[in-house]
Amino acid sequence: MDHGSNNAPCRDWVRWAIGRIDADYTRSADTHLIPVEMPALPHIALYLKDEASHPTGSLKHRLARSLFLYALCNGWVREGMTIVEASSGSTAVSEAYFARMLRLPFVAVVPRTTAQEKVAAIEFQGGRCHFVDDGGAVYAEAERLAADLGGHYLDQFTYAERATDWRGNNNIAESIFQQMAREPHPIPRWIVCGAGTGGTSATIGRFARYNRHATRICVADPEASVFHRHWADRSVTVATGGMSRIEGIGRPRVEPSFIPDVIDRVEVVDDAASIAAARVLSLRLGRRCGGSTGTNLIACARIATGMAAAGEAGSIVSILCDDGARYASTYFNDGWLAACGIDVAPWEAKVQAFFANGRME
Ligand SMILES: *Cc1c(COP(=O)(O)O)cnc(C)c1O
Repeated sequence: MDHGSNNAPCRDWVRWAIGRIDADYTRSADTHLIPVEMPALPHIALYLKDEASHPTGSLKHRLARSLFLYALCNGWVREGMTIVEASSGSTAVSEAYFARMLRLPFVAVVPRTTAQEKVAAIEFQGGRCHFVDDGGAVYAEAERLAADLGGHYLDQFTYAERATDWRGNNNIAESIFQQMAREPHPIPRWIVCGAGTGGTSATIGRFARYNRHATRICVADPEASVFHRHWADRSVTVATGGMSRIEGIGRPRVEPSFIPDVIDRVEVVDDAASIAAARVLSLRLGRRCGGSTGTNLIACARIATGMAAAGEAGSIVSILCDDGARYASTYFNDGWLAACGIDVAPWEAKVQAFFANGRME
């Protein structure tokens, strides 16, 4: 490929492409910060940043926009190029949305076991799926495919932390702090999030430090994930023994975008607890949220329990990461839970007890 000799038409197209994304952003509203009532804990306020309300239904909408802008401004994407990503879920859905906006073909490299709803969501946004048998092979296959097609591999796991403007530009952290301004405790004591790419925790952690806020960052991590092991011992970089059932978070390998040094605390959460929390919270909010929101809620409940025991007052902010409609046939389906051997009943009771008496067991 000749990148150098005549890049004027290319620059025109890049200008057009960035303009399309900018116009889309200008048409968009910010996501809400929802207060979650906890009458049993009158001195602690809990909020959820509603990332399900993005046009593509998850926090990956922000990431996809940032990855496209980063690639365009780096001169990596040109008119007609095929865009490739290694993702079985929300990232591919959001990236397909932006690829279509720029009239670029989009291919998601996904494990063959990917749920039909996910494949349908990617196809609905105009993308197509390329299946691989071994889930661990998606990265190499995405790289190979992009090279073969003369396309571009967006590589969320490498670029998430650097494609996002961590100092501001209305990133998720800046938006949270602005929306907290009129609350009784405007500077959160804790912000709780999960880690998939690690991009969200990196952005929030850096933003809090940069602005000299006292806010601390907690990552809520599934049992099967390597992230909490790596956080405790940096020599551990892979986890064996299966995948978490919580989509979007917890990884078997430490991703390059995971920045452990900005994280102050890690809470390890059982998958059954995450799913139970997502179900109880969905009933309380009157709308369904995904499993990783449940993981976050468990960590928030533990932190709130500790704050109350220590006589502390303050606020905790976490993230409603994606829409639970995507999990109607899984987390919200008793038959699926039974088939997986997941018993949510004891955990649902614990989460209900937390809301009733303010203590998480
Ligand atoms: C990606 C994702 C996360 C984690 O966000 P990262 O910024 O990638 O660490 C949490 N929940 C859901 C549903 C996700 O898709």
